[in-house]
Amino acid sequence: VLSAESYRRRHEISVTGDNVPPPFTSFEATGFPSEILREVHNAGFSAPTPIQAQSWPVALQSRDIVAIAKTGSGKTLGYLIPGFIHLKRCHNDSQLGPTVLVLSPTRELATQIQDEAVKFGKSSRLSCVCLYGGAPKGPQLRDIDRGADIVVATPGRLNDILEMRRISLHQVSYLVLDEADRMLDMGFEPQIRKIVKEVPARRQTLMYTATWPKEVRKIAADLLVNPVQVNIGNVD
Ligand code: ADP
Ligand code: MG
Repeated sequence: VLSAESYRRRHEISVTGDNVPPPFTSFEATGFPSEILREVHNAGFSAPTPIQAQSWPVALQSRDIVAIAKTGSGKTLGYLIPGFIHLKRCHNDSQLGPTVLVLSPTRELATQIQDEAVKFGKSSRLSCVCLYGGAPKGPQLRDIDRGADIVVATPGRLNDILEMRRISLHQVSYLVLDEADRMLDMGFEPQIRKIVKEVPARRQTLMYTATWPKEVRKIAADLLVNPVQVNIGNVD
């Protein structure tokens, strides 16, 4: 068994924050419900990726996270699986609005996240709706009306639908900003801030980014509370 320190060193993980829990170095160590472990096994995964290993125990403590890691490191399940577990604890009515909200910069990425949520969440009977621009609103509005535990959205389209008052975010208690640096590069900061105003302050917020420039630090400082920061590799 590797100690937390040697696992982190071997996988170039650095952490900052109070009492950061040790990484889950195997799937068995996660204590995830069996239906989730079954999906992970069916996908052929042999071990958590470093970002998963270190962010899962933090997320399961309901703490805010900033994770800085490059593309392809397994960030999606890094936030989705703790989101599934959060959902089970909440017992919210999906007809009243989503509990988990994921913001993503593009339609393509949002669709990929939804695919991952459907694949890994189906045995937990979770519903997921995807909202993005460049497509008619009608079908997306009908999807919302059918109810969704998880909404994955681009900031522009979600903001449009909020202005139409066709979705309520008052039940959201698990908010993810995926590819935060890219969303800011694309000019989505005003929409993100408007959306976050509709989400209750009592929530868990997780931010994922490949880079850590001033603008991203600023929005993290504004939206997250006492986050644990997890860096993978020598990204800055
Ligand atoms: P990122 O968001 O960091 O760019 P993704 O979440 O899209 O990365 O994951 C990249 C690929 O790795 C996906 O195909 C995903 O299914 C796969 N993957 C995720 N977790 C694991 C794991 N623990 N072991 C192997 N592959 C994984
Ligand atoms: Mg990603």
